[in-house]
Amino acid sequence: MSTAVAPKKKIHARPEVRRTQLLIDGEWKNSVSGETFPTYHPATEEKIADVAKANAQDVDLAVKAARKAFETGPWPKMDARDRGRLLNKLADLIEANLDELAALETLDNGKPINDARNADIPLVIDVLRYYAGWADKLCGQTLPVRGNYFSYTRKEPVGVVGQIIPWNFPALMVSWKWAPALAAGCTIVMKPAEQTPLSCLRMAELAMEAGFPKGVINVITGFGDAGAAIVKHPDVDKIAFTGSTETGQIIMREASHSLKRITFELGGKSPNIIFADADIEAAIHGAEFGLFFNQGQCCCAGSRLFVEKSIHKDFVKEVVSRAKQRKTGNPFDSETTHGPQIDNEQFKKIMDYIDQGKKAGADCVIGGKRHGDKGFFIEPTVFDNVTDEMAIATDEIFGPVLSVLPFDSVEEAIQRGNKTNYGLAAAVWTKDISKAHRVAAALRAGTVWVNCYDVFDAAAPFGGFKQSGIGRELGEAALASYTELKTVTVSLS
Ligand code: ADP
Repeated sequence: MSTAVAPKKKIHARPEVRRTQLLIDGEWKNSVSGETFPTYHPATEEKIADVAKANAQDVDLAVKAARKAFETGPWPKMDARDRGRLLNKLADLIEANLDELAALETLDNGKPINDARNADIPLVIDVLRYYAGWADKLCGQTLPVRGNYFSYTRKEPVGVVGQIIPWNFPALMVSWKWAPALAAGCTIVMKPAEQTPLSCLRMAELAMEAGFPKGVINVITGFGDAGAAIVKHPDVDKIAFTGSTETGQIIMREASHSLKRITFELGGKSPNIIFADADIEAAIHGAEFGLFFNQGQCCCAGSRLFVEKSIHKDFVKEVVSRAKQRKTGNPFDSETTHGPQIDNEQFKKIMDYIDQGKKAGADCVIGGKRHGDKGFFIEPTVFDNVTDEMAIATDEIFGPVLSVLPFDSVEEAIQRGNKTNYGLAAAVWTKDISKAHRVAAALRAGTVWVNCYDVFDAAAPFGGFKQSGIGRELGEAALASYTELKTVTVSLS
C-alpha cells in the first residue's frame, strides 16, 4: 500500500455525516423499530452520530427489494457493458469525493488520515474500475461433447448476495464485496460493521447518484443479529463474509440449512520470515510496516516475526527503533502514523494478550502500555524471544503487538511458520531466489509476499488456506463465487 501522495494540509477537517438511515429499495429509511445506535470516534471516544439499528424485519424488506431487483428489475436485463459503466461512474464519484470519504473513514475508524487518503480510498477506486472492466468479459465455453449435440456454458449471476463486513478497512471491504458482485449481475444486501457504518452509507449514496437501479444495492446497519438475519433469510443465495473465524463458523452452520454459497475471509497469524541473507534495511521496514500498519488491525498482519538467529539481536534492535519512531496521536494530523484501536472491547482484548505475553516470560522490549488517557491508543509493542506455544504466538491479537521468534534453518522456519490453524498470508525475505521460491511454495498460505509485505492489487486473488477462509476475493477468482455455471445442451438432430 503506497503512501506516496503528500497530504494537502496538516490537520484535516472533520467531514459532515450525511447519511445515517438504511438504504432499502433506493430509499433512505429509519429502521422498522425506530431504534438507533451510536457510532464513536475511537481517538476521543466522542459520539459521532446515531445510526439506524436494523433487525430481522428490516433485513426482510431489504432482501425482498434485492430479490425484486434481481428477478424483475432492469438489472438482469441490462447490457453487461452498462453495468461496467455504472461501476466506473461510482469510481469517478468516489474519486471526486476522495478527501471527504477518507476523512469519514478516519472519523469512524480512527485510522491515520494519511493512510485513508493514500491507501484505503485509492484502492477502493482501483477495485471498482478493475471489476468494471470484467462486467462484459464473463463468458462461458463451447464444449466438445459426444454425439450430435451443441453444448455450451453460461456464467450467470448467483442471485441475491448477503455481504457482511468488518470495521478494519470499512470502505475497502465495501469495494471488495460490491465490485465483483455487481460486475457479475448480482443484487446486494450489505451489512457494514456496527463500529464503522458511515463510509459504507456514503458510498451507497454515491451509488444512487451514479444511477444504480433501486434495490440493486441495499444497506442494513446494525449488529450481529442483523447479520444473522441475512444469513438465515431463505431468499439470499450467497453469503460473502469477512470477520472473525468464530463468527465464520456460526455463519457456516446457519448457511448450511439452505446450502447457501459462502465465501469467507477470516483471521490470520501470518509468519513474516527474515533470513540473514535478506536486504536487511528493506526487511526491517517490512517487519515494522507488516505488523503496525492500521494499528495491527489487519487479518494478514505479519504478527509472527521469524528472524534467523545470526542476525536476530541487531534486527530486533532496529525494529524496536522503528516502532519508537511511529507517531501516535490525532489521526486527523497528517503526520500521525499510529492511531487508536477501534473500540474498548478490542483495547481490552489486546491489553490482556500483552499481559499474557509478559506472564508467559516473553521479553516486552518496547510498548505494552496504553498511550494517553483518552481514546483507545496502545503503544506499538514488541515481544522478543517468544516461543511457539505462547498465546501471543498462536492467537490473532488484531492489535499492535509483534512477536519475535528466532530460528536456525530454512526447514525450521517453514515448519514453525506453518504451525498454525490459520493460513492467510506469509512473507519471506532473502536475496537467494531459489530459497525464496522454495519457501513460498512450502508455506501454507493464500498469499506469500517475497521481499515485500501488504502489497495488494485488485487483480491479485486474496484469501485463506485452512481456518483463514473459503474462496478468494479480488482478481478473476472472486468472480467465480458470484456466478453459477450453467450448461446448455442443444440437440442438433
Ligand atoms: P470482529 O471480532 O472483527 O468484530 P466479527 O466477526 O464479530 O468480527 O464481526 C464482523 C461482522 O460480522 C460485523 O459486521 C458483525 O456485526 C457481523 N456479525 C457478528 N456476528 C454475526 C452473526 N452471528 N451472523 C452474521 N453476522 C455477524
